[in-house]
Amino acid sequence: MSLKIYINGTLFDKQDAKISVYDHGLLYGDGVFEGMRCYAGQVFRLREHLDRLWTSASKIDLTIPISPEEMEMAVNSTLAANDIRDGYIRLIVTRGEGTLGLDPNTCAEAQVIIITDMITLYPDEFYENGLAIVTAKTIRNHPLALDPQIKSLNYLNNILAKIEGLKAGCVEALMLNHEGEVAECTGVNIFIVNAGVLQTPPVSAGVLKGVTRGAVMELAREDGIKVEEVTLTLEDVYAADECFLTGSAAEVVPVREVDGNQIGAGSPGLITRRLTDLYCNLRTQ
Ligand code: PMP
Repeated sequence: MSLKIYINGTLFDKQDAKISVYDHGLLYGDGVFEGMRCYAGQVFRLREHLDRLWTSASKIDLTIPISPEEMEMAVNSTLAANDIRDGYIRLIVTRGEGTLGLDPNTCAEAQVIIITDMITLYPDEFYENGLAIVTAKTIRNHPLALDPQIKSLNYLNNILAKIEGLKAGCVEALMLNHEGEVAECTGVNIFIVNAGVLQTPPVSAGVLKGVTRGAVMELAREDGIKVEEVTLTLEDVYAADECFLTGSAAEVVPVREVDGNQIGAGSPGLITRRLTDLYCNLRTQ
């Protein structure tokens, strides 16, 4: 059976799900998106993702042509049409079809696309033994050039860093901000454990406020682990006892090595394991 893709209220077979080559989402990356997971038929933190989608859209002056409630129904009906209970959901809103110029006002109708599919981001081995990552030379966009809270269809900043990582044999790359501070990886947030304290860069470091990041911080606090949002340097990461990455698709992935420096005494560390277990329980609650 072919996957069904939602476009503006209609479900199309995957091979027939098409949008215009004049769509400014394609021409300019003018649009926004979300990546979410569903577990046992429930979309994980759907409301938070929808809030972030609407925030991203409002920051680029894009009106989403349906309400959050309609989007929620559309997500659930697309999942049902594909018989997906455990999978991945990509929400995309493009500026729509316009002329070849930049002017978004030439685009009459935003396109709402929902793709539901299966996803395995990383092999089990990475969860068992940890990832090796490198720091990219490409820094994160300056927040005054592009607000990191806009989850836009233009991911070139992150893709350039990802290419650097891949060339170094790593599936993820760490990105610094314009001040040289640790920001995040190309599609995931970063955490370290330092003397029993869980630390992650603040949103002001120019990072996306990840839904998984938020969930992990809540879980840690509930479990009595001290959590700090603090400026981190690369040296802090190299000297950390533990390090892990979080994202909707990746969930919680331990990091064993950064720029050739081994992290802690072996990956995953105790707190990483504990939070991975708590996250596993939470997602199916
Ligand atoms: N940072 C970036 C740049 C991302 O693209 C993502 C994934 N959307 C994340 C962090 C993690 O966010 P979340 O936990 O909401 O998936």
